[in-house]
Amino acid sequence: MVSDNKMLSIREIPLEKLKERIQQLKKKRPGYGKILDFYLKVKEAQDKSKAFLKIEPIKLRKEWKELLAKEGFSLIPKEDYPLDIEASVKLFQTLCQIGKEANPHMAEQVGKIKEALDNKKIDLKNLLKKGVNEQKIEKVSDEFGLDTKVFLFLIQSSAKPSIEAGMEQLRNELDPETWLKGYCPMCGSLPFLSLLKEEEGKRYLLCSYCGYQWRIDRLICPFCNNKEQEFLQYFCGEGEEVYRIDLCDKCHQYIKTIDYRTLEESDPVLEDLATLHLDILAIQKGHQRPVPNPWTT
Ligand SMILES: [Zn+2]
Ligand SMILES: [Zn+2]
Repeated sequence: MVSDNKMLSIREIPLEKLKERIQQLKKKRPGYGKILDFYLKVKEAQDKSKAFLKIEPIKLRKEWKELLAKEGFSLIPKEDYPLDIEASVKLFQTLCQIGKEANPHMAEQVGKIKEALDNKKIDLKNLLKKGVNEQKIEKVSDEFGLDTKVFLFLIQSSAKPSIEAGMEQLRNELDPETWLKGYCPMCGSLPFLSLLKEEEGKRYLLCSYCGYQWRIDRLICPFCNNKEQEFLQYFCGEGEEVYRIDLCDKCHQYIKTIDYRTLEESDPVLEDLATLHLDILAIQKGHQRPVPNPWTT
């Protein structure tokens, strides 16, 4: 039995364990081989970058915690997470290299991005100044004819080590068990995945921006707060009861759930990547994923 604290922190899965799990997943679904190998390379690059990060200590203001308790505001705004810009830019370059070798579409995109960077048309440092701002990235993508998803993925993945380090600094300021809302208490972002843990299947949400995890009720749609059970349904893949899709028929959105009651501790983002077929089914049913992973269209 794993202790609460350890389970709560499914944070750092050692690379060796990640590799083992990738082998298992590939055996089961060889079609995912390429994408999982790509993910491993990205994780390796992020891990390396983490070792040299220089992050400013976050100074919390007292009124922030008061606002959190009284008004349900998140602890800090997304843009206030300090980023190590130099390290992020370096990681961005490494990820571009990895992306170039991943598939022809990424290679083409990386080529366009490099050109715009070399001609000083895109200022990466400036783009990272106030955290990862999706609107800004979308605007730049439009301007240079880039695939927003690819560009956003590269930027987000480059900033991720800094953002997670910031979140770790603040972890002890919050109680993950008592927030119970559909957005992150740390940074206010929407959840990326839902996780069931411990024997009784407590449900947690994983933040799409900072990686924090917090508790929420089992029977609620995190996106529209719908609790009416006749509007909530779920389905699993055949023979894959550890993965399920929770659908809400009120807002027509869905979240993927990974059931860690029967699955050994692993990287939830990896599990998500290895089950894109479930996303396709959910989308066919007419539901949207508010924070899609970059690999679904
Ligand atoms: Zn967050
Ligand atoms: Zn809903």
